[in-house]
Amino acid sequence: MMTNTTYTAVLGQLETTQVRVNGYLYQVDFGPAVRSRCHTVDRQKRCTCGLGASCPAVLAVIEYLAEGGAEPPDPPEGYFPLAPGECPVCGAPAHFDQQLCHRKRGAGWTCSQGGAGHYWRYHFSILAERIKANPWLFPPVTAPDGTVLYPGLLRSDVISTSEPAA
Ligand SMILES: [Zn+2]
Ligand SMILES: [Zn+2]
Repeated sequence: MMTNTTYTAVLGQLETTQVRVNGYLYQVDFGPAVRSRCHTVDRQKRCTCGLGASCPAVLAVIEYLAEGGAEPPDPPEGYFPLAPGECPVCGAPAHFDQQLCHRKRGAGWTCSQGGAGHYWRYHFSILAERIKANPWLFPPVTAPDGTVLYPGLLRSDVISTSEPAA
């Protein structure tokens, strides 16, 4: 836990603090004078270090934004740059899980109430939405003169899109 003195010392370092966008996250560098020098903060203003939302790095990000700094882009739906603080299914605290990390789904997490089940339920619902938005597995192909070259294949023709139980 940070004491008030170290907290003030860190705040004094804000002058030399560098904030930059890295992927979907903010990278905060307090400079060589601060022992835990580099922090990673997400768009929800949470730091990956144990201090979370009360980390001085979050303050550095707010200051950076107030000065007109650019925000990182919104991650695509269903992609987690960091594990969420709360389970998107039930709102209970969620925790990072290395085993569930995935190239397309981002940081893995498990729910303190529903475990990995809520992780999968969430990602299945995102997938179901995506299928609804783009029902074609292979869209139809039409020649410039209007001749249908290929009628297309709907995802629902190949896989079941039944909603996971709520
Ligand atoms: Zn931090
Ligand atoms: Zn949950």
